[in-house]
Amino acid sequence: MTKALSLLEQPTKPRDRDTTRERALLPFLLAQRQFDAAADQMGLDVDVRRILSRPMNELVVHFPVRMDDGHVEMFTGYRVQHNNALGPFKGGLRFHADLALDEVRVLAAWMTWKCAIARIPFGGAKGGIQLDPTRYTKSELERVTRRFCYALGPNIGPDYDIPAPDVNTDGQIMAWILDTYLSTMPPHERQRGMAVVTGKPVDSGGSQGREKATGQGVVFLIERWAAEHGMDLSNCTFIVQGYGNVGSWAARLLARHGAKLVAVEDASGAIRDSKGIDAERLVEYVKRHRGVAGYGPAISHVAFFGTPADILIPAAMAHQLTAATAPLVDVTLVAEGANGPTNPEADAILAARGIHVIPDVLCNAGGVIVSYFEWLQNRQGDYWDLAEVDRKLHAKITAAYDRVQAAARERALDWRTAAYIVALNHLEAVYKERGIFP
Ligand code: NAD
Repeated sequence: MTKALSLLEQPTKPRDRDTTRERALLPFLLAQRQFDAAADQMGLDVDVRRILSRPMNELVVHFPVRMDDGHVEMFTGYRVQHNNALGPFKGGLRFHADLALDEVRVLAAWMTWKCAIARIPFGGAKGGIQLDPTRYTKSELERVTRRFCYALGPNIGPDYDIPAPDVNTDGQIMAWILDTYLSTMPPHERQRGMAVVTGKPVDSGGSQGREKATGQGVVFLIERWAAEHGMDLSNCTFIVQGYGNVGSWAARLLARHGAKLVAVEDASGAIRDSKGIDAERLVEYVKRHRGVAGYGPAISHVAFFGTPADILIPAAMAHQLTAATAPLVDVTLVAEGANGPTNPEADAILAARGIHVIPDVLCNAGGVIVSYFEWLQNRQGDYWDLAEVDRKLHAKITAAYDRVQAAARERALDWRTAAYIVALNHLEAVYKERGIFP
C-alpha cells in the first residue's frame, strides 16, 4: 500500500482571522480527497503521485501602489505554477479579498487536470491579488494590475506561463497586463508577447468567442447530456449560482434553447420567479446594480438551493454544495461552471439521490480550450471567425466528455473520479516516457 501524499504538504502559517483561514483551506481539503480517491483507484505510480502532489513553483509578491488620493497601499499577489509536463503553465488571475496561497495552489492543480482531460498542450497555474475590487477606482485597479504584472516579471510569458481572466478579472485587466508586458520587453521581442495572456478583448488580439467560452462549454455539455438522457431543453427549467462571466453566459445560451431560468443567486442575494427570469435583461440589470438583488422576488440562500428545477449550474465560488445544501437540491443534473463548488460529502449525497454531476475539470474547460485557440491565433497571426471557434470548441469539449464517460463506464465510477483518472493517466504516461532528469 503506497503512502497517500497530500496535494499540499506544507500549509501556510495561520492567518490572523481563523475563519478566513478555514475557508481558504476548504478547497484544499476537498481537492486533496478528490486527488487521493482517483490516485488510489487507478494505482497511480508512486513517483508520479509524489511529483503531482505539490506545485513546481510558488511566487508571492508584495508591491506598493499609489492611490488616487496620493497615499500608498501595499498589495499581495500570488502565482502558483503547479505542473508543466504537458506545456506552458496556464491559468487565471483572481482578484478577491480572501485569496490565499492554499487556495491558489489547489486552483493551479485543477488547471493541470483540466488541460490534461481536454488534451490541451498546457500545464496548470493560477494566481491573483488579495484585494476587494469594489473598494478601488478604475484607475487604481489599472495601476495595481500593471504593478502586479511588473512584479511577476519573467515568471510569465507566452512560452512559459500564460494568465487569463477568473473571478473579478476580465478582458480589460488582460489588456492592461498585455500592455505592461509588451512595454517592458525589448522591442524586437514585442510581437511574440501578444500571447502572454488570453481572454483579451478582440480588438487587442483576443479570440472571437473567448468571453462566452466557459459558459458555452457548459451548455455544449448540457446539450450532450440532455440528448443522452432524454431531457428536452426547450421545456426544462434551471437555476444558476453566480451571474458573472460564466453564470450569465451559461444562462443566456441555455435560455436560447427555450429553457426557463427560475432562480439566480450571486453575492448580492438570491431571486426566484417561477414564471421565468429574462437572462439577457438580467445581464443589463447586473451591470447597472452590481448584482441580481432587486430584479425579482428575493429568496434566502437555502430557498435558492431548494428551488425545484431540471438543472443547477453553480458558477460562483468553491464549496457551495455541502452536507448542508446538497440535501436541499431538487434537480436532475448539476453542471459545474465554477471550480470546486461541490464537497466530497455533497458528491456522496447527490450520487445517493441519483443526481448526476458533470464535474468542474470537464464542465468548465471551455474557457481554457478557447484560451488555447487564442494563443494559437496570436502565434500564427491568423484569426478565426466565431463559427470556427465554436465548432472547434464543440469538438474538443465533447471529445473530453467522451473520454470521461468511457473511463466512468469502464471502471463503474462517478464522473469526477473518472475525470481525474483520465488526467492522471495522461500525465503518468508522459513521466514514464520521459523519465526524471537527470
Ligand atoms: P465573475 O467574477 O465574473 O463572477 C463571479 C460571480 O460569483 C458573481 O456573480 C458574484 O456575485 C458571484 N459570487 C461571489 N461570491 C458569491 C457567494 N458567496 N455566493 C453567491 N455568489 C457569489 O467570475 P467568473 O469568471 O464567472 O468565475 C466564476 C467561477 O467560474 C469561478 O469559480 C471561476 O474559477 C470559474 N471559472 C471561470 C472561468 C472563466 O473563463 N472566467 C473558467 C473556468 C472556471
